[in-house]
Amino acid sequence: MKTFEWLFKDKKISKIEITLPALSVGEVLIKVVKVGICGSDLFALESVDQYEELRLGHEWVGEVENSLSDNYKVGDLVTSSAFIGCGECSLCLVEKSNFCQNGFALGGKDFGMLRSKAILPANQLLKVDNFSLNEIVLLEVAAVAEEAVSQILRLGLEKRHRVLVFGGGPVGLLTSLKLKEEGYDYTLIEKDNFRIKMARDLEVNIQALGMALLDDKKKFDYIIDASGNGNKQSGFWKYAKVFISTSSVCLIVGKYIGTSEIHSNLFAMNNLTIKWMRGMPKETLARTRDFWIDKFSHISSKMITHEFNFSDVSKAFDLALARDNCMKIIINVNVND
Ligand SMILES: [Zn+2]
Ligand SMILES: [Zn+2]
Repeated sequence: MKTFEWLFKDKKISKIEITLPALSVGEVLIKVVKVGICGSDLFALESVDQYEELRLGHEWVGEVENSLSDNYKVGDLVTSSAFIGCGECSLCLVEKSNFCQNGFALGGKDFGMLRSKAILPANQLLKVDNFSLNEIVLLEVAAVAEEAVSQILRLGLEKRHRVLVFGGGPVGLLTSLKLKEEGYDYTLIEKDNFRIKMARDLEVNIQALGMALLDDKKKFDYIIDASGNGNKQSGFWKYAKVFISTSSVCLIVGKYIGTSEIHSNLFAMNNLTIKWMRGMPKETLARTRDFWIDKFSHISSKMITHEFNFSDVSKAFDLALARDNCMKIIINVNVND
């Protein structure tokens, strides 16, 4: 079957025709409906060698067009986490499909969802009813936030602690909203005015970075770094010494291009613990769906600031890379084809 995908190569993005293989038992043919542009797509674009190929897109919703699985029927709305595990190894069986060594990542060199049709294994999909299409696209980001909060809880966060969420992009916002829903003492810190305004609109406890830097009593027990250094930003580590206190624990979710300077003595003096996060298993996506059902439409309608058609993928990425007055950008696939 012939279909189309967007391929990034030689610093250009082009729509190319590809051929899908025949469907095998246990697989589902999906008509892709919407794909969101994520900070990690931008990270991939900004850090890729110009000769490497990239097939982006891992925040998506699609409609089942043909199914060789008893669990899915034609017309079902489905999504997945960004990592497609094999579904059979010991890691996949204990809800750690994000560490599976036999799976593949969506949005990497080999396979992205910026395409009209895809074949995926049914056991890695999640059925999503009672959500609008835009809400489903945002669910993957909410699941990254869900995973960040559950990891920081495992690192010992309690209600008496103060949590800093650094960086008010989609992951930082949704992490803050989750912490708020759960009743934790959190502060989101961000420097971009557009993002600050959006956080205020969503009633998140936000402080502008400039103000926060002036307040030298502002120390935090737990830190979720949702920033990274894309778009020539400096990320959390430039300001770390202002916010960490003795025995702070930091979870890094944002992505850093190249090397980031770490002052080991500062961290040793503060007895700092750092942990990195790598994606989340599909079970987190299911928990996220169940948590946000009924209370997500208000959030997604505010956070999704732009939508583009499939033929305008390069315009969508130009805007996303400029990070200019935008939050979540969505591409409508299979419209006007
Ligand atoms: Zn993402
Ligand atoms: Zn596996």
